[in-house]
Amino acid sequence: MATYKIGVLYGDGIGPEITKATVEVLKAATKRAGGVEFDFVDLPMGWEGIEKYNDPIPQVTKDALQETHGWIMGPHDSAAYPAEHKANRNPSGELRHYFDLYSNVRPAKTMEGIKSVVGEADLVIYRENTEGYYCDRNMYVGTGEWQITPDVVVSTGVFTRKAAERIAHAAFQMAMQRRKKVTIVHKANVIKLGTGLFLKVCREVGEQYPEVTVDDFHIDAMTAHLVRRANFFDVIVTENMFGDILSDLAGELVGSLGLAPSINTNENQAMAQAAHGSAPDIAGKNIANPVGIMLSTVMFLEWLASRHGDDNLIKVARSMEEGIFTTLAEGVKTRDLGGSASTTEFTEAIAERIAR
Ligand code: NAD
Repeated sequence: MATYKIGVLYGDGIGPEITKATVEVLKAATKRAGGVEFDFVDLPMGWEGIEKYNDPIPQVTKDALQETHGWIMGPHDSAAYPAEHKANRNPSGELRHYFDLYSNVRPAKTMEGIKSVVGEADLVIYRENTEGYYCDRNMYVGTGEWQITPDVVVSTGVFTRKAAERIAHAAFQMAMQRRKKVTIVHKANVIKLGTGLFLKVCREVGEQYPEVTVDDFHIDAMTAHLVRRANFFDVIVTENMFGDILSDLAGELVGSLGLAPSINTNENQAMAQAAHGSAPDIAGKNIANPVGIMLSTVMFLEWLASRHGDDNLIKVARSMEEGIFTTLAEGVKTRDLGGSASTTEFTEAIAERIAR
């Protein structure tokens, strides 16, 4: 029986609550589906890393992750870290940069039992993860921002053909498995060279996929289109910051940010990570919604299955996904979705349905 080594980074705020819940549900699905085993390796990140190694994403964690088949990462509360740590890339930015996880895949899909404010929708955002307007990703050394005087700051945006090409290929390849439609999101009417290059390269890549219909929108107009006719969109490809903002909007439109999953990938590695942050306002109250990180783990299992050609992983993913969807459809929900279940009650309800 194949054994996969999975890193687990609990993180800050609601991170430990929702990550623990995810591992429990994954164990229940593995027991139910059979055929594979997981070896979970707990690794320090966030405040735990600062306390043990004076680093929110210590080298021991990076070295250990290198030896895994992939990892599940809880959110970090980087906005609350001491100034010396805020000067560096935050833990998820650092891992994306360090492992060159260039593709951030963020689906937004309506679910039975969940109120969507835009009707039916089933789209997936491919966010370029390594450059663009997130200036700390652009630098070998430094943060990509300069304070010229106390009142003047320059922040860099970087756009390269290489980065646009690889995220575009990932998006078009996904479109070929879906409704064969790609929307490129940019701001080439103003940021003519930077996002103009992104648009041009995505269009060029699109020519290699003649079956796929391509259109493009400016980021500002795109927010309106998404609210007005979310169902029109299939695959959306965009730069780093636009993708981050657009995916939070899409996640909330189809139900709640707490439901929004994502994976960060390249050809060899993957990191499952909910789209939301550490929610310090509700941390430690046992009320957080763990669905985002659970569905991220489902996506991670699908990625792992295709990377290793192992259909048993797909069985685990389907079992986990079915357990989550059935629980929601039967009306067991956390407070952000209008329910009353605590995180632990909701998790137990999923595990129980998986075992049934
Ligand atoms: P947030 O996503 O943590 O919270 C925004 C709102 O959504 C809050 O009201 C929160 O209670 C709610 N929310 C988020 N996730 C939820 C869940 N699973 N269940 C129920 N409600 C949920 O965003 P923020 O407040 O801007 O950021 C808080 C911290 O998280 C900051 O330190 C920020 O840097 C960090 N952050 C981390 C990541 C990451 O780890 N990938 C991403 C975004 C923000």
